[in-house]
Amino acid sequence: MFENLTEKLTTALNILGNKGRLSEKDVDEALREVRLALLDADVNFKVARQFVTAIKDKVMNDDDILHSLTAGQQVVKVTNDELIKTLGGDVSLLKQGDESPSVILMVGLNGSGKTTSVAKLAKYLSGSGQTVSLVAADVHRPAAIEQLRLLGVQVDCDVYDKGTEEAAEVVAAEGVEHGRRLGSAWTIVDTAGRFQVDDDLMSELESIHNAVKPDEVLLVVDAMTGQESVNVAEEFHKRIGITGLILTKMDGDARGGAALSITSVTGIPVKFIGVGERVDALDQFYPDRLASRILGMGDVLSLVEKAQETFDEEQAAELEEKIRKATFDLEDFLEQMQAVKKMGPIGQVLEMLPGFSSVKGKLDSEDLDGSKMLKSEAIIRSMTMTERQKPELIGGSRRRRIAKGSGTSPQDVNQLLNQFKQIRKMMKQFSSPKGQEKMMRMMSQNKGNPFGF
Ligand code: GDP
Ligand code: MG
Repeated sequence: MFENLTEKLTTALNILGNKGRLSEKDVDEALREVRLALLDADVNFKVARQFVTAIKDKVMNDDDILHSLTAGQQVVKVTNDELIKTLGGDVSLLKQGDESPSVILMVGLNGSGKTTSVAKLAKYLSGSGQTVSLVAADVHRPAAIEQLRLLGVQVDCDVYDKGTEEAAEVVAAEGVEHGRRLGSAWTIVDTAGRFQVDDDLMSELESIHNAVKPDEVLLVVDAMTGQESVNVAEEFHKRIGITGLILTKMDGDARGGAALSITSVTGIPVKFIGVGERVDALDQFYPDRLASRILGMGDVLSLVEKAQETFDEEQAAELEEKIRKATFDLEDFLEQMQAVKKMGPIGQVLEMLPGFSSVKGKLDSEDLDGSKMLKSEAIIRSMTMTERQKPELIGGSRRRRIAKGSGTSPQDVNQLLNQFKQIRKMMKQFSSPKGQEKMMRMMSQNKGNPFGF
């Protein structure tokens, strides 16, 4: 997602970066490219125009920027700030009500991902120790109720339903009352959608709204819908008042810019993004982290958080020690690969690294789908413990034996050993004061993937 945008934006801004002092013409030229890149990513045209106008105003009215020797970099900073603002500024958390349960009403068109998002949100909230109950107020289709029931089992939450007999607002009100009796901290109400905004749907949602007085009304928007999503959001907002957005299918190939324009047009903040079909594929939305990703600066914070969730603390401390003392061996490398695999699809993990967008084109699909990592694992597993600890022992005959044992070629074994050498070198540098800076530079110049996966 946003790979093309990132590539085009960094190209446009790099032109400035190489210039030193800037003229108005330089700025205009770069901003024209920026605007085209945004439009190409399906960002709403008004939002794109506002965006570049704001940047130009700031840059042209700031003598310090224009006369600075690092003007280009400062424009990148201004662009980043403006992008964060466009994406909503600060992170927007769920609002709890005064009484329990706090009620979340989930609304949106058919197929946008409402029911899935109800389950994802339930898992997200109960993951932090809060009790959550669900209500099946999509009363028009028995299959919709069954879907929520199954998801409820999966995320271990109570599901209140009354089949298709009662009106949606009655089921919703009873469901919230049921949540109160259960002592739930949150009750999430799933509702019906339509293929497009119509009066029947809006009236039904208004009735439900009146019946349950929700603390949050979350509009679920499919990021693949394109520009129409901005109109849909405006319609829903006008009729029932939306407090937040969940953008789904952000894992897909959609350009996604339209969905991201909704906040700027309507003022409704994005609270979560859906990044897959599974119930754990929901991320809190951080405008600053996405901005930094879009500008090719990676998302180190999310990467660290993901790592913290999956790595065991003791293991991490041990690893740090090894890196510091430069005793990291192939056995550790193997352990690392297994830990990284747990963090999610390797392509998604790598995207969070700074500078990754600039090396991505040079990697082959094997690097990104994890098959390279499987191969590396097989090779290391075919080595003896001594070989893993002292890879320098591996000469011609050992190499052939390892290749045979792992179903690979001696060249593959060689490649892995070379990669490992590079990693070790990088780690040594990483542990020195200037190391981090150096590593970034290495990454952006490196022809292959220095991580070996
Ligand atoms: P509803 O009609 O709004 O309730 O939509 P559903 O929750 O039934 O979802 C419709 C389809 O979208 C299902 O096949 C979901 O698995 C899929 N879906 C929902 N959210 C996501 C997401 O974030 N990523 C992907 N790839 N698929 C999603
Ligand atoms: Mg549904």
